Amino acid sequence: MRIFDPHIHMTSRTTDDYEAMFEAGVRALVEPAFWLGQPRTGVGSFTDYFDALIGWERFRAAQFGIRHHCTIALNPKEANDPRCTPVLDILPRYLAKDGVVAVGEVGYDSMTPAEDEAFARQMQLAIEHELPALVHTPHRDKLAGTRRTLDVVKESGIAPEFVAVDHLNEMTVGVVKESGCWMGFSIYPDTKMDEARMVAILKEYGTDKVLVNSAADWGRSDPLKTYRTGTQMLEAGFSESDVDKVLWQNPVEFYGQSGRLVLDELPGFEASAETFQGNSVLRGGRQ
Ligand SMILES: [Zn+2]
Repeated sequence: MRIFDPHIHMTSRTTDDYEAMFEAGVRALVEPAFWLGQPRTGVGSFTDYFDALIGWERFRAAQFGIRHHCTIALNPKEANDPRCTPVLDILPRYLAKDGVVAVGEVGYDSMTPAEDEAFARQMQLAIEHELPALVHTPHRDKLAGTRRTLDVVKESGIAPEFVAVDHLNEMTVGVVKESGCWMGFSIYPDTKMDEARMVAILKEYGTDKVLVNSAADWGRSDPLKTYRTGTQMLEAGFSESDVDKVLWQNPVEFYGQSGRLVLDELPGFEASAETFQGNSVLRGGRQ
């Protein structure tokens, strides 16, 4: 099984996670810029974080045989803090960089006027930079929030195939499918969507434009949820090519629209299990 996790926050994960992911078949991923838990108080904290996503985390993933890409944005939660909103002015600099394959995560948290403003501005940035957009849907008032999200997407004028609407469930999948946007599902250990419900949705709605991610971050989460969903798909009678479409071809098609995906073999790809054992930066360098 080859896996491309289209939404995972590796900054919050350990090298054990990278090893387990490689072992399970993960060869590429996208790490969206998000809220780090501790509220940021100024633009410098964002630029350091963005630089880490573009540089350090990409390097760290490569040590484990995994191609790392990222999305860049002001997340909806911190869009409500006037100390953070000047980040919007520096985004164009980052959206021009290699390894940045979409604008995101954008969207709504509490659906405030400040979130409206940041969301609409960042959809325009996606259009200007010809990049896809990764759109987060609110965890409260899910259906109303998703409908409002789709209205903003439509008003922006972006092509629906350039948009992935994420964190969907049984209630919200239908309206997103109708919109023509990509449908993202985050699989969690004990909240929101799980593997069995995901397989049921795939049976009902098919595999087109579906993206399955582990969304693993600093909360209780599991970076192997993509693999576990693939396994349950096979057990439920889906073919290996169905699994490959959902876990590899779909994310490649969606983020490939950026023109910036790098999926060729890593140097020492085959030997990476041995190579990273001796890596001086990640191993010896830490002592
Ligand atoms: Zn996320």
